[in-house]
Order: sequence, then structure tokens, then C-alpha cells
Amino acid sequence: MYIVVKPDKCTGCEGCISSCPFDAIILQSGVAYINPEICQLCKACLGVCPEVAIAEIEDTPQSSATSHELSAYKGVWIFAEQRNGKVSSVSYELLGVGRKLSQELETELSAVLFGANEEEARELIKWGADRVYLCNDPLLEKFNDTPYADLLSRLIKEHKPAILLAGATPIGRSFIPRVAARVRTGLTADCTSLEIDKQTRSLFQVRPAFGGNIMATIICPNHRPQIATVRPRVMKRGEYNADRSGEILNIKAENLFSKTKVIDIIKEISELTVNLHEADVIVAGGRGLGDAKGVKLLEELAQALGGAIGASRAAVDEGWISYSHQIGQTGKTVCPKIYIACGISGAVQHLVGMQSSDIIIAINKNPEAPIFNVATYGIVGDLYEVVPLLIKKIKEVKGL
Ligand SMILES: Cc1cc2nc3c(=O)[nH]c(=O)nc-3n(C[C@H](O)[C@H](O)[C@H](O)COP(=O)(O)OP(=O)(O)OC[C@H]3O[C@@H](n4cnc5c(N)ncnc54)[C@H](O)[C@@H]3O)c2cc1C
Repeated sequence: MYIVVKPDKCTGCEGCISSCPFDAIILQSGVAYINPEICQLCKACLGVCPEVAIAEIEDTPQSSATSHELSAYKGVWIFAEQRNGKVSSVSYELLGVGRKLSQELETELSAVLFGANEEEARELIKWGADRVYLCNDPLLEKFNDTPYADLLSRLIKEHKPAILLAGATPIGRSFIPRVAARVRTGLTADCTSLEIDKQTRSLFQVRPAFGGNIMATIICPNHRPQIATVRPRVMKRGEYNADRSGEILNIKAENLFSKTKVIDIIKEISELTVNLHEADVIVAGGRGLGDAKGVKLLEELAQALGGAIGASRAAVDEGWISYSHQIGQTGKTVCPKIYIACGISGAVQHLVGMQSSDIIIAINKNPEAPIFNVATYGIVGDLYEVVPLLIKKIKEVKGL
């Protein structure tokens, strides 16, 4: 959908200009014009024109795209986000899956990097990118929705990638939907798997739907690029090759502006204390803990292993542990080397947050619990008997 001014009806009275909260309406050659790049389709301008010159139109540039037009879109792109000038690990994970997709499509893999230096761009090449579109403008050093969305949309329009992947992080979630709206295409958020359909060469975007009860495969057949976001730690990193070479294209940030200025970025306290994303070992507890005392027991095990504490939503809802520890669909997604699930049944909403872990050890007194279907090692038993034995043995082995 578009909102346009019908030039034959517009009298140039300028009455509509102030109605737009995004300053998308300007006067051009005596008639009002709505810039579709800036318009957010909020519809605030509809109805303000006394001549009824402002109207919605359903047609979009790509809605009638032919297969010939779609085939003009080539290549796989990943958006490489950075914090404090350092590329975030999710970007390397996106390069891992991006490499796989680009090989299947026999096309190039590019990364887009804003607000970081060439050294970081070279790292992206070593992790699998053939090309990096780098814009090192100071305006882009701290994440800001408007210039990020403006520049990425411009690059997409100019270079026409077939696929764009971004992290389902606060940054990706904030501005990638704007980009999708600007380039008039679809977006599938929080994908857990991405595959190429061998027949159509379209992207199969798989994600949980209906509260995680089904896995939906979503396609974007008539619009390009196909845009998907992926949560951190869902995909594995690709291979690092220090000798890999690629191309770095320096982009100028011309005519970029922002009405807002990021003054400072302050980390949430929970992010500082619960570093589940970085932990190699996570000991997680569920309703089977019975009460908050169980958390203390798991803390002892985690401490012996040098790990962090996770939880199912049931344990969080019971008030035994804070939400910042929750793992799953509405919590964090983790991918440690070892995940020990204690008294967790294995509901799909929990599994989507931890099933990529390298080794999963499940302790549950019900041998039929679904967690055993994803577990590398299963211990059927009461966690209050098993966990103290584990702690004792680990302390012995470690000489603690
Ligand atoms: C929209 C939506 C989003 C959700 N998001 C999440 C999410 O992000 N994360 C999440 O975890 N859940 C989430 N859930 C909830 C999810 O569906 C389950 O209800 C929840 O994961 C169950 O937690 P649990 O396994 O700890 O509890 P239960 O399913 O009650 O399982 C407890 C297990 O402990 C075992 N047990 C009991 N006592 C002992 C013992 N002494 N020793 C050993 N084993 C024992 C039992 O056999 C049982 O298997 C979501 C649900 C919805 C609808």
C-alpha cells in the first residue's frame, strides 16, 4: 500500500505538511508530495486535505513483479551489527548460514557493516563474506534506527540482493522491519532454520508459530529481497580462514540525517550478571525443582562446572528465579557446549531456546519426558539424588 497526493486535486495549500509526524510531505513545484522512502504509512495525513487529494493506493511496485524482475535480485547479504565498534557474534553466525545458502544458490555472500572500521570488515571476510559494504560514518557508530534504515534500504535498492539476513537482536528487531517496509517486501522474524527450495530457489524460512505448537515454513514468493531475522546462538558459525580474501566497498553516508541522537548506551543489570549467551556450561532448572531451594542446589553444580544458571518459564513463573534466566521462546536462546536440564519436561517453547547446544544432559524422573528426545545423555531419576552425586564427583575430579 502507498499514500499519495493526487497532483490534479492538490491546490498547494500546505495544510497537510504539518500532519505528517515523519516529515514525509514536502511541497514540490507547487504541489504536495509524499516521499515513499520516509512515509511510515501511519495514515495521519488521510482526511486532512480539504480537496481530498490524499489517498491510499493498494498497488505496490513489486506487487506485480514478474519472474524476470525478481531474477534481477541476486546474492545473499547479512547485516553485520556492531557494538562499540566490534562486530557482534551473531554476525558470524549469520555468515555461517549465509555461506551455506549462497553455495546452494551458487551466488556471492556479502556483509553490510555500519559504524566500524576496515579491520572488522576484514574479519567478516575471514568468516566467510566475499564482499563487505562498509560505511564508517560517525553518525552510524551508535545504533540509530533512522540512518541505519535509510542507508540499508538505499543499498538494497541499488544492489538488489535476493536474500537479507539479520540478527533478531534489539538492533535487528528495531530497524529491519522499517527496511522491509521501505523496500516493500516481507520479513520473517525469529527464524530457527533457513533452507533453499531446490525447485524454485526461494528461501524456506522456518519459525515457531501458534505459541510454538507448530513449526511454520514461510516463503516470500513475489517480493525481493527475502528478509529473515535469526536469534543469536541459533545458527552455528561458519569456518574461519585467516587467508581468505574478499572485497571491501567503502560507502559514503550522503544525505543521512536523524532527528534523534544517541547520547549513551547503558547495559541492563541483568545482562551484566547473567551472561547466559557467553556461558559454555548452563545448568537449568524447571518446575521439577519443587521450590526455590532447588535453585541453590543447581547453583552449586554450576559453580563446580564454572557455568551459569538457566531456567524454564515454569520455574520463573513460580518465582524461584528471575526472568533474566529464562530460556526458550519468550526467554533467551542459548547454545552452550553443555546444557544440563534438571526437572524440565522439554516443552517445544523451551526446546527452541536450547536445542542447538552441543551436549544436552537431561535429568528427569519421568522416563517418557520429551526432553529425552533431544538429550545426548539422559539420567532417569530424582534430581535431588542425582545432582548432589554429580557435584561430589566433579569436585573430586577437579580437586575442589
Ligand atoms: C507462548 C508461550 C511461550 C512460552 N515460552 C516459554 C519459554 O520461553 N521457556 C520455557 O521454558 N517455557 C515457555 N513456555 C511454557 C512451556 O510451554 C512449558 O509450560 C514450560 O517450559 C514447562 O516448564 P517445565 O518443563 O519446567 O515444567 P513441567 O512441564 O511441569 O515439567 C516438570 C518436569 O520435571 C520433572 N520432575 C518433577 N520432579 C522432579 C524431580 N524431583 N527430579 C527430576 N525430575 C522431576 C517432571 O517429570 C516433569 O517432566 C511458553 C508457553 C507459551 C504458551
